[in-house]
Amino acid sequence: MGEVNFSQVMEQNRSFVDKVIEKSGQDIRQCYQCAKCSGGCPGSFAMDYLPNQIIRMLMLGMKEEVLKSQTIWVCMGCNTCTTRCIRDIEVAHVMDTLRQEAIKAGYAEKGRLVTIFNDVFLSTIRSYGRLFEAGLLMMNNMKTGNLFKDAQFGLPMMLKGKAKPFPHRIKGRKEIKNIFEKIKRMEGK
Ligand code: SF4
Ligand code: SF4
Repeated sequence: MGEVNFSQVMEQNRSFVDKVIEKSGQDIRQCYQCAKCSGGCPGSFAMDYLPNQIIRMLMLGMKEEVLKSQTIWVCMGCNTCTTRCIRDIEVAHVMDTLRQEAIKAGYAEKGRLVTIFNDVFLSTIRSYGRLFEAGLLMMNNMKTGNLFKDAQFGLPMMLKGKAKPFPHRIKGRKEIKNIFEKIKRMEGK
């Protein structure tokens, strides 16, 4: 990270911080920087900035650094941080908002594989109302160009009944479709 003029970037990115607070529903200004969230985070070993550092960087208005960070893509939304936070901040919601903002800002390359996986995962839910594991793996491999990735696990999983060769469609698909449409409307798409 190069030299940063904090007063300048804080002023420039104030509206971004307000947006993150509004969209995530988390008042990150309440953060004490106790770092308990980071202390319990199972993904911290793979992050470039710890969860509490991301919150601090946000407060300092370091929009680009946060949106380009690996951390927001490593976070798996396990909510361990939330259960440990002494200020009841749901850090996972903040990370979720930051991923959406990173995609909008065109900074999603680091999370390209995660983004593809998310899209494929959601498209199977949208189509069948539940996860279709075999379809998910095949579509994900096609879209990422790794055609035979994890292929050795497919047959044993099917033989053990852990994955089905064909999708199972649930009855409430209409309700699922409505949920997706409602989310689209909320995102203004
Ligand atoms: S645990 Fe909560 S208060 Fe402490 S650093 Fe993390 S977000 Fe801030
Ligand atoms: S939700 Fe994300 S940031 Fe929080 S503990 Fe889990 S992996 Fe870490």
